[in-house]
Amino acid sequence: MTPRTPFAAAHAAPLDLGGRTALVTGAAGGIGRACAQRLAASGAKVRAVDRDPEGLAALAEETDGVEPVVLDLTDLDAAEAAAAGCDILVNNAGLQLVRPIEQFPPDVFHTVLTVMLEAPFRLVRGALPHMYEQGWGRIVNVSSVHGLRASAFKSAYVAAKHGLEGLSKTAALEGAPHGVTSNCVNPGYVRTPLVERQIADQAAAHGIPEERVLSEIMLQDSALKRLIEPAEVAEAVAYLCSPAASFMTGASLVLDGGWTAH
Ligand code: NAD
Repeated sequence: MTPRTPFAAAHAAPLDLGGRTALVTGAAGGIGRACAQRLAASGAKVRAVDRDPEGLAALAEETDGVEPVVLDLTDLDAAEAAAAGCDILVNNAGLQLVRPIEQFPPDVFHTVLTVMLEAPFRLVRGALPHMYEQGWGRIVNVSSVHGLRASAFKSAYVAAKHGLEGLSKTAALEGAPHGVTSNCVNPGYVRTPLVERQIADQAAAHGIPEERVLSEIMLQDSALKRLIEPAEVAEAVAYLCSPAASFMTGASLVLDGGWTAH
């Protein structure tokens, strides 16, 4: 792992989300947890959704304004119902499996698409009536550089993220007359458990030792040779919820250290 880059709360832009309710999926883990904390610190009430009860309990214990909602997003009806009444929706939950297509288990492909594309659709569907009624809403989809570029051995993930980009842009067009914006944030590799878990799989798929995965695979295309921190991604999410971003919709806010500059 590259050395941690300091990103203190002192760098966070002032933002007042008092009176707003935000729903963040995947809030027990890396980026989602950082987003929940960032939005709560700005005064939002945060519905923290995850299938991991312990992770949610730990988050709620150390963060005021967080309501834990234990939910497996493959339960699509429950996901849609959970989004009713929220003002800000952060679609973040995700999972990854690194395998060549011919060895990729079809059931895992199905689950990845369900959690990372179909559940966001259902959450948006559940959130929009209230957002439209009040004439204000913010949808932020945590996409990836893999929403814009493919990498070998990540068929389900790349397909889901490219689909999420399309869903986000469609929601932007439909939401615009109702005061609802929809955007993606597109990080490169973030220092989270999802990335740590991937290192062994990447080593096996590429046939190299684990210690070479970070420099030779993960950061190969990044001009900035470090992982981005979850708090930096959360800051981009907060920006998209701020008045400064009110004209930004249908966009993909790229935080990839220069990857897509190639
Ligand atoms: P993570 O594994 O640390 O956290 C993901 C969270 O999603 C976990 O808490 C997990 O319990 C939850 N989750 C997974 N499946 C779920 C389900 N069926 N129902 C409810 N919750 C479920 O991962 P992360 O790195 O924080 O990733 C968050 C998002 O950021 C994902 O969409 C991921 O694709 C995206 N992203 C991550 C990176 C990265 O390098 N880590 C880069 C770009 C984009």
